[in-house]
Amino acid sequence: MISRRQSKPIRVGTVTIGGDAPIAVQSMTKTDTRDIRATITQIKELADHDCEIVRVAIPDFEAAQAISTIKKKTSTPIIADIHFDYRLALEALKAGVDGLRLNPGNISDPEQIAKVVQAAKQRQIPIRIGINTGSLPPASKPCLSTSEHMVNAAMEQINLLGNLDFDLIKVSLKAFDVPTTIEAYREIASKISYPLHLGITEAGLPRAGAVRSAVGIGILLHEGIGDTIRVSLSANPCEEVITAYEILRCLDLRKHGPTLISCPSCGRAEVDIISLAESVDKRLKQISKPIKVAVMGCVVNGPGEAKDADVGIACGKGKGAIFKKGRVVSTVAEKDFLEALMTEVKSLLN
Ligand code: SF4
Repeated sequence: MISRRQSKPIRVGTVTIGGDAPIAVQSMTKTDTRDIRATITQIKELADHDCEIVRVAIPDFEAAQAISTIKKKTSTPIIADIHFDYRLALEALKAGVDGLRLNPGNISDPEQIAKVVQAAKQRQIPIRIGINTGSLPPASKPCLSTSEHMVNAAMEQINLLGNLDFDLIKVSLKAFDVPTTIEAYREIASKISYPLHLGITEAGLPRAGAVRSAVGIGILLHEGIGDTIRVSLSANPCEEVITAYEILRCLDLRKHGPTLISCPSCGRAEVDIISLAESVDKRLKQISKPIKVAVMGCVVNGPGEAKDADVGIACGKGKGAIFKKGRVVSTVAEKDFLEALMTEVKSLLN
C-alpha cells in the first residue's frame, strides 16, 4: 500500500486535486486553440479516453476568448496555459476557465502576478505554478543544482501568492532529466502542502516517452508524492492519457479498464502467443470494466503464473485451457482460443 503525502485539496472545475482524491489524469490539446471546432473535437476525444482535465495553449487573446465557446460545448475542466503575458490569464479567467498555469520563468513581475491573483481569487480559480527547466527564471541566489534552482524558483512564486493571501495553488517542477525531476519534487514535497502536478517534460516519442514518464512519475507516486499527472508525448494526446492510466494501474493507484497479462512466449510455446495477445488486447479495448485477462503460452505453467488474472488461457499444442481465478474451467481447440476467452471475459462483465 502506498501512503500518500497529505496535500491540501483544491478544485479544478468538477475535479478535486489533492487530499484523498484519486490521482487525476490530465493532458493537453495539440490543436490551435483558436481553431475552436478542432479543439472541441480533441477535448471530446480526450474525454472519451477518461481524461479528467484538459490544458489548452493560450498564445494570444483570440485563444483566451475561444475558451468561452469551448467551455459551452465540452464538460471536461479546462486549464489555460499562460506564458509571457499576464493579460492572457485575465482574459482566460473572464472566458470562464477552470484553472490557470503560470510560468514563473516568463511572468515574474509581482504587480502583474497580483492582478492575476486578485482576478483568480474573485472567481476561486486555482493557479498552477509550473516550473520547467526549459524556461527557468534566473537564480536569485546561488544554487548547487538544477533541482535546487527549480525549487527556489517555485518557492519564490509560492511565497508571492501566499503573501497575497491566495492558497488555491498547485505546483509542478518538470525536467526532461528523470533524477533532476525526482530530486526537485522530493524537495518541494517536504516544504509545502499544496498539491503537486507530476510530469516529465518533453519525454519524447511514445515508446521512450512512456518509459521515461513511467520511471520518473512512477518513482514519485510510489513514494506517495503527486496528486495529478500529465504524461508528455510527441503523439496524439489520447496516448498520453492511456499511458498515464497504465502508470497508475501499475501502482494500484487507479482502476481503469482491463489489464492484459501476457507471457513473453519462449521455446516451450506451441502457438503464436504474440498474435493471440495482440488480438485479445484489441478486443479488450472495447471494455471499460477493470478486469485482468491472461494469455499464457503453456498449459503446465499458465494458470499458476497468471493466478492473479480473473480469466485467462494457457495454450498447448492445438488446444488450450481456459481458466477463471486460477482454476481451469474448460479446454478448447486452437481455432476457438480468441472467442472462447472473450466469452469468459464477457461472462464476468455483468
Ligand atoms: S508461460 Fe510457458 S510459453 Fe509463456 S514464457 Fe512462460 S514457460 Fe514460456
